[in-house]
Amino acid sequence: MIRREQTKKVKVKDFYIGGSNNVLIQTMTTTKTKNVEETVKQINTLATAGSSLVRLAILDVEDANAIKEIKQQVNVALVADIHFDYRLALICADNGIDKIRINPGNIGNKDKIKMVVEKCNDLDIPIRIGVNGGSLEKHIIEKYGVTAKGMLESAKYHVNLLEELDFTNIIISLKSSDIFKTVEAYRMASKEFNYPLHLGITEAGTMFGGTIKSSIGLGILLYEGIGDTIRVSLSTDPIEEIKVAKELLSSLNLYKKPKIISCPTCGRIQYNMFALVEKIEKYLETIEDDVTVAVMGCAVNGPGEAKASDIGIAGGKGEGLIFVEGKIKRKVKEDEMYDELIIEINEYIKRGKLN
Ligand code: SF4
Repeated sequence: MIRREQTKKVKVKDFYIGGSNNVLIQTMTTTKTKNVEETVKQINTLATAGSSLVRLAILDVEDANAIKEIKQQVNVALVADIHFDYRLALICADNGIDKIRINPGNIGNKDKIKMVVEKCNDLDIPIRIGVNGGSLEKHIIEKYGVTAKGMLESAKYHVNLLEELDFTNIIISLKSSDIFKTVEAYRMASKEFNYPLHLGITEAGTMFGGTIKSSIGLGILLYEGIGDTIRVSLSTDPIEEIKVAKELLSSLNLYKKPKIISCPTCGRIQYNMFALVEKIEKYLETIEDDVTVAVMGCAVNGPGEAKASDIGIAGGKGEGLIFVEGKIKRKVKEDEMYDELIIEINEYIKRGKLN
């Protein structure tokens, strides 16, 4: 059981980030934000897939203006990703954005920072300070280099600018494409600040490599109780980011979704088990309930794993034994396995809902 760090609770839209609230999933649209139709379509797809927050790149005034129309057509919390231009932050805030990602130190003079802070205060909009190993401030690099310590110092610098103006509605991220630096930076930040932390390994890479990299980096931190929101950054469709994020959180019991236990390649498998587990996985993707299904290939570990799961099958030659909540239910033929498992999964979920 993971003991989460109890960070400050920060309100975003109609929910909280931090404290003992669930670790939430975030991703980013790939559309031009000013293309309202495409952006709304993607946001809604991402929200349905499980993203609690969707971040949008705000590159210019047109993007910032589009927020108003977009907001009317979506329900999920929207985050404006802004670099340098304080005016874009003000427009997004007026247009109903739920959270702003901007580094106050990059906005310019104190008056500009003050204008953004006052606006966010008035409208109760939190600010995420997003430190990135690839864009540390010159004065930080000169003193610390591009190191975890440098990333922490950069976060401190930006946090101070907001705190000086009595603004504490803050969330922090310290991303690097290097796992070691990222983990170290977040560990230090977790000791230094009580603000919620948004986790990510930035520019993690492709679907395959990036998934492994993010799982290691974010997995270490989440296991240590660090992190209140996560983004898995992959060079692919953001839907895949959500899938990976959900699986990652689910593996650490931080997200409720169906789990599968199944045999690896093994010379003892007695039937076409891989085809069955693939079909079962596809089916489980359509439900959100907390059910563990074991699809096992033979009698060595099969009955044990099937028994320990909510629903399981231990396969033999051309047939298998179905287990339900630890007890043998019945023997089924190989061509009946899928249908029979689905019946048991659905009944198990129904029982859970009735209780
Ligand atoms: S349960 Fe049987 S088929 Fe599955 S991994 Fe163990 S020995 Fe192999």
